[in-house]
Amino acid sequence: MLFGPPGAGKGTQAGAMVERFNLCHLSTGELLRSEIAAGTPLGLQAKALIEAGNLVPDSVVEGMIEDKFQSVKGVKGFLLDGFPRTLAQAEALDAILAKRGEQVTACVSIMIPDALIHERIAHRAQIEGRADDARPEVVENRIKTYHDKTEPLIAFYKKAGKYSEIDGVGTIEQVRERIFSAMDKF
Ligand code: AMP
Repeated sequence: MLFGPPGAGKGTQAGAMVERFNLCHLSTGELLRSEIAAGTPLGLQAKALIEAGNLVPDSVVEGMIEDKFQSVKGVKGFLLDGFPRTLAQAEALDAILAKRGEQVTACVSIMIPDALIHERIAHRAQIEGRADDARPEVVENRIKTYHDKTEPLIAFYKKAGKYSEIDGVGTIEQVRERIFSAMDKF
């Protein structure tokens, strides 16, 4: 799984990782944005939460991930991006994988300082036009949510011996090489 604060570069790095290791990229943020674009009931439920920078309910993302695990065939594994984001999701993921006789291989964490998060998201706002990147108070809430709800997962995966931290400051290529060498160890 790819772990890190908003704007750390998870989405940017995912493409090279899936290609190198023959994985299926699963981004819960992207899946939710597709549901919103398609106007599904799930999308309608998620829209206001996402646009305020809050998390959607654990059960919603857990269900989406489990469905994808069942429907996607022919890959060596999955690259989870933006999931899990809470301890409850991490525990649910372990249970979903255990039912399949599988487990999390590694949690690769891209770390950048909060000041750089703002800079990266401001840049992305101009390119991708995401609603939740546009308003500073929403970005602030996402960073706070990351620190409060998602950061505790670091201890969870460290304890499991699956945590590897990457310095996310540098060029896309530099960070990619750091990720590859971390993944080669698992
Ligand atoms: P992302 O594209 O990963 O930055 O996600 C965009 C938004 O989607 C987040 O700010 C949340 O509102 C929602 N979201 C994505 N993944 C999750 C998750 N695992 N749990 C809860 N909410 C999520």
